[in-house]
Amino acid sequence: MRNVVIIGSGPAGLTAAIYAARANLSPLIIEGVQAGGQLTTTTEVENYPGFRHAVLGPDLMKEMRAQAERFGTQFVTGDVSAVDLADTPFALTIEGEETVKTRVLIIATGASAIHLGLPSEARLTGYGVSTCATCDGYFFRGKEIVVVGGGDSAMEEALFLTKLASRVSVVHRRDKLRASKIMQDRAFKNEKLSFAWNAVVEEILGDTLVTGVRLRNVITGRISDLPCAGVFIAIGHSPNTQFFAGQLQMDAKGYILTRNGTATSIPGVFAAGDVQDSRYRQAVTAAGSGCMAAMDAERYLETLEEGDK
Ligand code: NAP
Repeated sequence: MRNVVIIGSGPAGLTAAIYAARANLSPLIIEGVQAGGQLTTTTEVENYPGFRHAVLGPDLMKEMRAQAERFGTQFVTGDVSAVDLADTPFALTIEGEETVKTRVLIIATGASAIHLGLPSEARLTGYGVSTCATCDGYFFRGKEIVVVGGGDSAMEEALFLTKLASRVSVVHRRDKLRASKIMQDRAFKNEKLSFAWNAVVEEILGDTLVTGVRLRNVITGRISDLPCAGVFIAIGHSPNTQFFAGQLQMDAKGYILTRNGTATSIPGVFAAGDVQDSRYRQAVTAAGSGCMAAMDAERYLETLEEGDK
Protein backbone atom coordinates (compact mmCIF):
# COMPACT_ATOMS: atom_id res chain seq x y z
CA MET A 1 0.00 0.00 0.00
CA ARG A 2 1.36 3.38 -1.06
CA ASN A 3 0.59 6.86 0.22
CA VAL A 4 1.12 8.61 -3.10
CA VAL A 5 1.48 7.22 -6.60
CA ILE A 6 2.12 9.60 -9.48
CA ILE A 7 1.49 8.56 -13.06
CA GLY A 8 3.69 10.49 -15.49
CA SER A 9 7.21 11.88 -15.33
CA GLY A 10 7.08 15.21 -17.13
CA PRO A 11 7.51 18.51 -15.25
CA ALA A 12 4.15 18.05 -13.45
CA GLY A 13 4.82 14.50 -12.24
CA LEU A 14 8.43 15.11 -11.21
CA THR A 15 7.62 18.35 -9.38
CA ALA A 16 4.80 16.55 -7.55
CA ALA A 17 7.33 13.87 -6.62
CA ILE A 18 9.90 16.39 -5.35
CA TYR A 19 7.31 18.00 -3.07
CA ALA A 20 5.73 14.71 -1.95
CA ALA A 21 9.14 13.18 -1.22
CA ARG A 22 10.21 16.21 0.81
CA ALA A 23 6.94 15.88 2.76
CA ASN A 24 7.99 12.32 3.68
CA LEU A 25 5.24 10.69 1.65
CA SER A 26 7.60 8.26 -0.16
CA PRO A 27 6.04 8.73 -3.60
CA LEU A 28 6.21 6.19 -6.38
CA ILE A 29 6.30 7.45 -9.97
CA ILE A 30 5.14 5.27 -12.81
CA GLU A 31 7.18 6.92 -15.48
CA GLY A 32 5.75 5.45 -18.64
CA VAL A 33 7.49 4.58 -21.83
CA GLN A 34 8.07 8.19 -22.92
CA ALA A 35 9.75 9.00 -19.61
CA GLY A 36 10.32 12.70 -19.07
CA GLY A 37 7.34 13.75 -21.15
CA GLN A 38 7.17 16.11 -24.08
CA LEU A 39 10.26 18.15 -23.14
CA THR A 40 12.41 15.15 -23.97
CA THR A 41 11.47 15.65 -27.62
CA THR A 42 12.29 19.34 -27.75
CA THR A 43 15.54 21.28 -28.10
CA GLU A 44 16.25 24.55 -26.35
CA VAL A 45 13.82 25.71 -23.70
CA GLU A 46 14.22 29.46 -23.43
CA ASN A 47 11.29 30.32 -21.19
CA TYR A 48 11.82 28.08 -18.14
CA PRO A 49 12.85 30.46 -15.35
CA GLY A 50 16.35 30.09 -13.97
CA PHE A 51 18.16 29.42 -17.26
CA ARG A 52 19.14 32.71 -18.81
CA HIS A 53 21.05 30.98 -21.62
CA ALA A 54 18.28 28.39 -22.24
CA VAL A 55 18.42 24.72 -21.32
CA LEU A 56 17.96 21.63 -23.47
CA GLY A 57 14.60 19.93 -22.79
CA PRO A 58 16.12 16.46 -22.16
CA ASP A 59 18.75 17.99 -19.80
CA LEU A 60 16.08 19.83 -17.82
CA MET A 61 14.11 16.61 -17.37
CA LYS A 62 17.25 14.68 -16.36
CA GLU A 63 17.89 17.25 -13.62
CA MET A 64 14.28 17.15 -12.42
CA ARG A 65 14.35 13.36 -12.26
CA ALA A 66 17.64 13.34 -10.33
CA GLN A 67 16.20 15.93 -7.93
CA ALA A 68 13.11 13.78 -7.31
CA GLU A 69 15.31 10.71 -6.82
CA ARG A 70 17.59 12.54 -4.39
CA PHE A 71 14.69 12.99 -1.98
CA GLY A 72 13.69 9.33 -2.14
CA THR A 73 11.16 9.07 -4.98
CA GLN A 74 10.90 5.53 -6.31
CA PHE A 75 10.45 4.94 -10.04
CA VAL A 76 8.76 2.18 -11.99
CA THR A 77 9.31 2.18 -15.74
CA GLY A 78 6.31 0.93 -17.61
CA ASP A 79 2.91 1.97 -18.84
CA VAL A 80 -0.20 1.80 -16.72
CA SER A 81 -2.54 -0.68 -18.38
CA ALA A 82 -5.60 -0.34 -16.10
CA VAL A 83 -6.86 1.91 -13.34
CA ASP A 84 -9.66 1.24 -10.87
CA LEU A 85 -10.83 4.34 -9.04
CA ALA A 86 -14.17 2.88 -7.89
CA ASP A 87 -12.89 2.04 -4.39
CA THR A 88 -10.16 3.20 -2.06
CA PRO A 89 -7.33 2.37 -2.05
CA PHE A 90 -7.11 2.96 -5.79
CA ALA A 91 -5.68 0.09 -7.84
CA LEU A 92 -3.29 0.52 -10.77
CA THR A 93 -2.06 -2.25 -13.04
CA ILE A 94 1.32 -1.78 -14.70
CA GLU A 95 2.00 -3.50 -18.04
CA GLY A 96 -0.88 -5.92 -17.34
CA GLU A 97 1.09 -7.56 -14.50
CA GLU A 98 2.05 -5.71 -11.33
CA THR A 99 -0.75 -4.12 -9.27
CA VAL A 100 -0.10 -1.13 -7.03
CA LYS A 101 -2.54 0.18 -4.42
CA THR A 102 -2.48 3.74 -3.22
CA ARG A 103 -4.35 6.13 -0.95
CA VAL A 104 -3.65 9.08 -3.22
CA LEU A 105 -3.23 9.18 -6.98
CA ILE A 106 -1.72 12.11 -8.84
CA ILE A 107 -2.40 11.97 -12.57
CA ALA A 108 0.27 13.75 -14.61
CA THR A 109 0.04 11.78 -17.84
CA GLY A 110 0.32 14.84 -20.08
CA ALA A 111 -0.77 15.00 -23.68
CA SER A 112 0.30 13.43 -26.98
CA ALA A 113 0.72 14.72 -30.50
CA ILE A 114 -2.40 14.82 -32.68
CA HIS A 115 -2.21 13.29 -36.15
CA LEU A 116 -3.98 14.39 -39.31
CA GLY A 117 -5.80 11.07 -39.51
CA LEU A 118 -4.89 10.28 -43.14
CA PRO A 119 -4.29 6.64 -44.15
CA SER A 120 -1.12 7.73 -46.01
CA GLU A 121 0.12 9.45 -42.82
CA ALA A 122 -0.28 6.24 -40.80
CA ARG A 123 1.35 4.15 -43.53
CA LEU A 124 4.39 6.45 -43.85
CA THR A 125 4.94 7.20 -40.16
CA GLY A 126 8.58 6.36 -39.51
CA TYR A 127 9.21 6.48 -43.28
CA GLY A 128 9.29 10.25 -43.62
CA VAL A 129 6.33 11.24 -41.43
CA SER A 130 7.16 12.32 -37.90
CA THR A 131 5.79 14.37 -34.99
CA CYS A 132 9.20 15.14 -33.50
CA ALA A 133 11.79 17.24 -35.32
CA THR A 134 14.47 16.80 -32.68
CA CYS A 135 14.06 13.03 -32.84
CA ASP A 136 13.94 12.62 -36.61
CA GLY A 137 15.14 15.85 -38.22
CA TYR A 138 18.69 14.55 -38.67
CA PHE A 139 17.45 11.97 -41.21
CA PHE A 140 16.48 14.79 -43.59
CA ARG A 141 19.76 16.67 -43.80
CA GLY A 142 19.98 18.68 -47.02
CA LYS A 143 16.44 17.66 -48.07
CA GLU A 144 13.12 19.47 -48.43
CA ILE A 145 10.75 19.24 -45.50
CA VAL A 146 7.11 20.16 -44.88
CA VAL A 147 5.81 21.16 -41.44
CA VAL A 148 2.04 21.14 -40.89
CA GLY A 149 0.52 23.58 -38.38
CA GLY A 150 0.49 27.24 -37.43
CA GLY A 151 1.12 27.26 -33.67
CA ASP A 152 4.26 27.62 -31.55
CA SER A 153 5.06 23.92 -31.93
CA ALA A 154 4.98 24.16 -35.72
CA MET A 155 7.22 27.25 -35.71
CA GLU A 156 9.64 25.65 -33.26
CA GLU A 157 9.84 22.48 -35.36
CA ALA A 158 10.17 24.46 -38.61
CA LEU A 159 12.92 26.74 -37.24
CA PHE A 160 14.86 23.80 -35.86
CA LEU A 161 14.56 21.97 -39.19
CA THR A 162 15.94 24.94 -41.17
CA LYS A 163 19.30 24.11 -39.57
CA LEU A 164 19.25 20.71 -41.29
CA ALA A 165 17.04 20.90 -44.35
CA SER A 166 17.63 22.60 -47.69
CA ARG A 167 14.16 24.17 -47.45
CA VAL A 168 11.23 24.05 -45.03
CA SER A 169 7.64 24.77 -46.11
CA VAL A 170 5.02 25.39 -43.45
CA VAL A 171 1.54 24.29 -44.50
CA HIS A 172 -1.16 26.10 -42.55
CA ARG A 173 -4.93 25.89 -42.96
CA ARG A 174 -5.51 29.63 -42.45
CA ASP A 175 -3.76 32.85 -43.57
CA LYS A 176 -2.65 33.78 -40.03
CA LEU A 177 -0.41 31.95 -37.60
CA ARG A 178 -1.56 31.05 -34.11
CA ALA A 179 2.06 31.11 -32.85
CA SER A 180 3.33 33.78 -30.43
CA LYS A 181 4.68 37.05 -31.86
CA ILE A 182 8.32 36.23 -31.12
CA MET A 183 8.09 32.86 -32.90
CA GLN A 184 6.28 34.41 -35.86
CA ASP A 185 8.98 37.09 -36.18
CA ARG A 186 11.72 34.47 -36.18
CA ALA A 187 9.88 32.35 -38.74
CA PHE A 188 9.21 35.26 -41.12
CA LYS A 189 12.84 36.35 -40.91
CA ASN A 190 14.24 32.92 -41.75
CA GLU A 191 15.16 32.73 -45.42
CA LYS A 192 14.92 28.95 -45.58
CA LEU A 193 11.28 29.02 -44.46
CA SER A 194 8.31 29.53 -46.75
CA PHE A 195 4.56 29.26 -46.17
CA ALA A 196 1.70 27.57 -47.98
CA TRP A 197 -1.29 29.50 -46.62
CA ASN A 198 -4.92 28.34 -46.55
CA ALA A 199 -3.73 24.86 -47.40
CA VAL A 200 -4.51 21.42 -46.01
CA VAL A 201 -2.73 18.14 -46.66
CA GLU A 202 -5.01 15.84 -48.65
CA GLU A 203 -2.51 13.01 -48.91
CA ILE A 204 1.09 12.22 -48.13
CA LEU A 205 2.73 10.90 -51.27
CA GLY A 206 5.16 8.01 -51.59
CA ASP A 207 5.08 4.21 -51.69
CA THR A 208 7.70 3.22 -49.16
CA LEU A 209 9.20 6.65 -48.39
CA VAL A 210 7.68 10.13 -48.43
CA THR A 211 8.13 11.92 -51.75
CA GLY A 212 5.78 14.84 -51.23
CA VAL A 213 2.41 16.12 -50.04
CA ARG A 214 -0.79 16.77 -52.00
CA LEU A 215 -2.29 20.06 -50.88
CA ARG A 216 -5.75 21.53 -51.29
CA ASN A 217 -6.24 25.26 -51.09
CA VAL A 218 -9.29 25.66 -48.83
CA ILE A 219 -10.36 28.89 -50.59
CA THR A 220 -9.87 28.05 -54.27
CA GLY A 221 -10.12 24.27 -54.02
CA ARG A 222 -6.95 24.02 -56.15
CA ILE A 223 -4.93 20.81 -55.71
CA SER A 224 -1.13 20.95 -55.93
CA ASP A 225 1.77 18.64 -55.11
CA LEU A 226 4.72 19.81 -53.05
CA PRO A 227 7.79 17.53 -53.21
CA CYS A 228 9.53 16.78 -49.90
CA ALA A 229 11.35 13.96 -48.13
CA GLY A 230 9.92 14.56 -44.67
CA VAL A 231 6.59 15.69 -43.21
CA PHE A 232 6.44 16.89 -39.62
CA ILE A 233 2.97 17.09 -38.12
CA ALA A 234 2.73 19.79 -35.43
CA ILE A 235 -0.99 20.47 -35.02
CA GLY A 236 -1.35 20.22 -31.28
CA HIS A 237 -1.92 17.59 -28.64
CA SER A 238 -4.65 15.61 -26.93
CA PRO A 239 -4.66 14.58 -23.25
CA ASN A 240 -3.62 11.07 -22.23
CA THR A 241 -6.74 10.22 -20.28
CA GLN A 242 -8.11 7.09 -21.93
CA PHE A 243 -7.79 4.99 -18.75
CA PHE A 244 -9.85 7.43 -16.76
CA ALA A 245 -12.78 7.67 -19.18
CA GLY A 246 -16.03 7.04 -17.32
CA GLN A 247 -14.25 7.27 -13.95
CA LEU A 248 -13.36 10.97 -13.72
CA GLN A 249 -15.12 14.09 -14.96
CA MET A 250 -13.54 15.44 -18.14
CA ASP A 251 -14.29 18.16 -20.66
CA ALA A 252 -15.41 17.48 -24.23
CA LYS A 253 -11.78 17.09 -25.41
CA GLY A 254 -10.93 14.61 -22.64
CA TYR A 255 -9.00 16.99 -20.36
CA ILE A 256 -9.55 16.11 -16.67
CA LEU A 257 -11.64 18.73 -14.89
CA THR A 258 -10.01 20.09 -11.73
CA ARG A 259 -11.32 22.49 -9.13
CA ASN A 260 -10.16 23.99 -5.89
CA GLY A 261 -6.50 23.53 -6.88
CA THR A 262 -5.87 20.11 -8.41
CA ALA A 263 -8.83 18.13 -7.03
CA THR A 264 -10.70 15.93 -9.50
CA SER A 265 -14.23 14.54 -9.21
CA ILE A 266 -12.92 11.73 -6.95
CA PRO A 267 -11.52 12.60 -3.48
CA GLY A 268 -7.91 11.46 -3.26
CA VAL A 269 -7.32 11.73 -7.01
CA PHE A 270 -5.49 14.86 -8.16
CA ALA A 271 -4.46 15.96 -11.64
CA ALA A 272 -1.56 18.19 -12.69
CA GLY A 273 0.01 19.46 -15.90
CA ASP A 274 -1.19 19.19 -19.47
CA VAL A 275 -3.64 16.38 -18.68
CA GLN A 276 -5.90 18.99 -17.05
CA ASP A 277 -4.74 22.12 -18.87
CA SER A 278 -5.70 22.83 -22.45
CA ARG A 279 -4.98 26.54 -22.06
CA TYR A 280 -1.45 27.28 -20.79
CA ARG A 281 0.39 23.99 -21.50
CA GLN A 282 3.81 25.28 -20.48
CA ALA A 283 6.56 23.40 -18.65
CA VAL A 284 6.51 25.99 -15.89
CA THR A 285 2.73 25.88 -15.41
CA ALA A 286 2.87 22.07 -15.41
CA ALA A 287 5.59 22.15 -12.75
CA GLY A 288 3.56 24.66 -10.72
CA SER A 289 0.47 22.48 -10.79
CA GLY A 290 2.58 19.43 -9.86
CA CYS A 291 3.64 21.28 -6.74
CA MET A 292 -0.01 22.12 -6.00
CA ALA A 293 -1.05 18.48 -6.47
CA ALA A 294 1.57 17.26 -3.96
CA MET A 295 0.47 19.86 -1.41
CA ASP A 296 -3.22 18.99 -1.99
CA ALA A 297 -2.33 15.30 -1.59
CA GLU A 298 -0.51 15.97 1.66
CA ARG A 299 -3.51 17.84 3.09
CA TYR A 300 -5.88 15.10 1.95
CA LEU A 301 -3.78 12.41 3.66
CA GLU A 302 -3.79 14.48 6.86
CA THR A 303 -7.60 14.61 6.80
CA LEU A 304 -7.70 10.82 6.30
CA GLU A 305 -5.43 10.34 9.31
CA GLU A 306 -7.52 12.70 11.42
CA GLY A 307 -10.60 10.67 10.41
CA ASP A 308 -8.86 7.45 11.57
CA LYS A 309 -8.20 8.85 15.06
P1 NAP B 1 -1.78 24.92 -30.90
O1 NAP B 1 -1.39 26.25 -30.34
O2 NAP B 1 -3.10 24.34 -30.56
O3 NAP B 1 -1.67 25.05 -32.50
C1 NAP B 1 -2.07 24.00 -33.32
C2 NAP B 1 -1.96 24.47 -34.77
O4 NAP B 1 -2.28 23.39 -35.64
C3 NAP B 1 -2.92 25.61 -35.10
O5 NAP B 1 -2.30 26.54 -35.95
C4 NAP B 1 -4.07 24.88 -35.80
O6 NAP B 1 -4.70 25.67 -36.77
C5 NAP B 1 -3.37 23.73 -36.47
N1 NAP B 1 -4.24 22.55 -36.60
C6 NAP B 1 -4.94 21.93 -35.63
N2 NAP B 1 -5.60 20.85 -36.13
C7 NAP B 1 -5.28 20.80 -37.43
C8 NAP B 1 -5.64 19.90 -38.49
N3 NAP B 1 -6.42 18.84 -38.28
N4 NAP B 1 -5.13 20.15 -39.71
C9 NAP B 1 -4.32 21.21 -39.94
N5 NAP B 1 -3.95 22.09 -38.99
C10 NAP B 1 -4.42 21.88 -37.74
O7 NAP B 1 -0.72 23.79 -30.53
P2 NAP B 1 0.87 23.89 -30.32
O8 NAP B 1 1.51 24.66 -31.38
O9 NAP B 1 1.28 22.49 -30.08
O10 NAP B 1 1.04 24.70 -28.96
C11 NAP B 1 0.38 24.26 -27.77
C12 NAP B 1 0.74 25.16 -26.58
O11 NAP B 1 2.12 24.99 -26.26
C13 NAP B 1 0.54 26.65 -26.87
O12 NAP B 1 0.09 27.25 -25.69
C14 NAP B 1 1.92 27.12 -27.21
O13 NAP B 1 2.11 28.49 -26.93
C15 NAP B 1 2.78 26.23 -26.33
N6 NAP B 1 4.12 26.07 -26.92
C16 NAP B 1 5.06 27.04 -26.65
C17 NAP B 1 6.32 26.95 -27.21
C18 NAP B 1 7.32 28.02 -26.93
O14 NAP B 1 6.98 28.96 -26.22
N7 NAP B 1 8.53 27.97 -27.42
C19 NAP B 1 6.66 25.89 -28.06
C20 NAP B 1 5.69 24.92 -28.33
C21 NAP B 1 4.41 25.04 -27.77
P3 NAP B 1 -5.57 26.96 -36.36
O15 NAP B 1 -4.57 28.03 -36.04
O16 NAP B 1 -6.36 27.23 -37.59
O17 NAP B 1 -6.40 26.52 -35.20
